[in-house]
Amino acid sequence: MNQAYTPPLDEILFLLDNVIHWSNLLDLPPYTELDRETFTAILSEAAKFATRELSPINEIGDDEGCQLLDGRVRPPSAFLRAFRKYVTEGWCSMEIPEEFGGQRLPLLLGAVISEMNNGACIAFSMLPCMLRSAAHLLIAHADPDLRDCVVPHLASGNYSATIVITEPQAGSDVSRINCRAVEQTDGSFSITGSKIFISYGDHNWTDQILHMVLARTENAGGDSSGLSLFMVPKLNLSSGAPNGVTVLGIEKKMGLRGSPTCTLEFKGAIGYLIGEQNKGLNCLFTMMNTMRLEVASQSTGIASACLQKACTYAGFRIQGGAGEEPIQQHADIRRNLAGMHAQTVSIRALTYETAINLDKAKHGTDELGRRQDLALAEFLLPVCKAWGSDTAFWVANQALQVFGGHGYIREQGIEQYVRDSRALSIYEGTNGIQAQDLVIRKLFKQDAAGYHQLVSRMKQTIADATKTGTASELISHVESTLEGYRRCTASLLENTRRSIRFAQAVATPYLELTGLVAGAWMWLRIATTPGTNAAIRNEYANLSIFYMRYLLPKTQLLEAQVYAGAELIDNCFGGAAPDKSS
Ligand SMILES: Cc1cc2nc3c(=O)[nH]c(=O)nc-3n(C[C@H](O)[C@H](O)[C@H](O)COP(=O)(O)OP(=O)(O)OC[C@H]3O[C@@H](n4cnc5c(N)ncnc54)[C@H](O)[C@@H]3O)c2cc1C
Repeated sequence: MNQAYTPPLDEILFLLDNVIHWSNLLDLPPYTELDRETFTAILSEAAKFATRELSPINEIGDDEGCQLLDGRVRPPSAFLRAFRKYVTEGWCSMEIPEEFGGQRLPLLLGAVISEMNNGACIAFSMLPCMLRSAAHLLIAHADPDLRDCVVPHLASGNYSATIVITEPQAGSDVSRINCRAVEQTDGSFSITGSKIFISYGDHNWTDQILHMVLARTENAGGDSSGLSLFMVPKLNLSSGAPNGVTVLGIEKKMGLRGSPTCTLEFKGAIGYLIGEQNKGLNCLFTMMNTMRLEVASQSTGIASACLQKACTYAGFRIQGGAGEEPIQQHADIRRNLAGMHAQTVSIRALTYETAINLDKAKHGTDELGRRQDLALAEFLLPVCKAWGSDTAFWVANQALQVFGGHGYIREQGIEQYVRDSRALSIYEGTNGIQAQDLVIRKLFKQDAAGYHQLVSRMKQTIADATKTGTASELISHVESTLEGYRRCTASLLENTRRSIRFAQAVATPYLELTGLVAGAWMWLRIATTPGTNAAIRNEYANLSIFYMRYLLPKTQLLEAQVYAGAELIDNCFGGAAPDKSS
């Protein structure tokens, strides 16, 4: 039996209240008139929506899949009914400002709600997430007339949106994009080209779909600096006539089968420039930052759902042992569950921490504080995306193991989570690319501002924890790990100055190392909070020790991999590849 997912609201609120201190949001100008009770009520309604409306359609959507009929994509029919309810209840407009018909809720709340929705049904939740991300992008970069014309329709759920980057020859390497944009006399552009792998590139939930397309204008350079961003509506904005966007096909894929992955052809479609010409990538980063946070929420949601299912199953499956004892009595199953729980809480806390820093960076009143919050959030975003998604897949896989053969067959719904979660490490920039971003951009090129924030905030947590006179074992784990991390980072930077290839070779272990170190920061904060919910406090006290003794030592392996550098790897392929950095 495939049991419904119920988001663990108590655990979520424990973190928000005691560790993330979401009440600090109430000091920020847009939120001074709100209060904790309002936030809690919103989360409580969101949890009900996820449990009642989304969880029941997860497996149905996977079974039914998507169809392309008469040139129009039809996602699973149950998804359309859920979307109508989602729109009626106002979930589309969460973080969109009031002047565009939204509710201007903090990104943090959006991240928590998204976690709940994605744990219940990720294939459905991908569309609302792109809709909200596109609204952020248009508010930040679109011409005011265009922005005012379309954003309210996104907030109301009348329109939806997509991100259109990938082409057959241009995946991670966007400099290979061929899609063309030719300027017209009225200032619009004519867009022509083929795009692949576009999530919800077409569907029957909204008539209008706003495609955010990366394309190259005439005479633009051949590299990524020659790319511009365009909004290409599926239907002409004035007449409602088709605008030259055709669906050529939908992919058959491993997971996320309820979400259509489309091949789109643009043939002389009218497009509107977003931001400046040749600055398309800069604009798209606005959207990609929200999408990376979104993948972190997807990851936490999936890990949380798998943990819940595995714990329930382990509580009633009788096997082995002396009497009628459930498998949760076996030490090996407990080891699995403890690891899953500790890692799920780690990525949840880190995602929330990143989200609240983005909120503070946007709305804080102190300029220096805003810059520091932004630096930290931008450093943590690739970690949340990549470490989060790898962790979600790991947790899903562990959950399947707890179910044994009953997890491998479809009945329990676990194998679907394993398949679905695999995509998270690939889209929105593969995890390999996230690691390059972390090490080469955030650490090396941007003076490591976010890294220094992480280190100084961890030191502050250690100092605060020391004052409590408790948790001395945890403090010493975090202190020594931080020391090792700093030495390793200094060495990495030194080696990167000599050869970028060194950084390229060690970026992935360094990202995981950063994730584990940041996770330890979260666990020290969790373990030293007074927290009023005694059951969760006690459970988390044990999990924090488990994290420090059982999971954190992996940092030593990862550091060894970072120190190993590029040569060791290149030698496995018959010698060093040329260093293209200089
Ligand atoms: C389910 C799903 C939904 C998607 N939705 C969308 C969407 O809505 N819109 C959209 O535009 N795209 C979408 N994509 C496409 C996705 O973003 C790409 O698949 C992804 O960016 C990787 O590109 P690629 O598949 O061509 O792999 P490649 O770029 O060919 O990468 C292959 C491997 O090489 C590695 N690699 C590549 N370049 C480097 C480098 N410079 N350094 C180190 N390693 C490197 C990668 O990390 C990867 O492991 C979706 C994909 C999937 C699976």
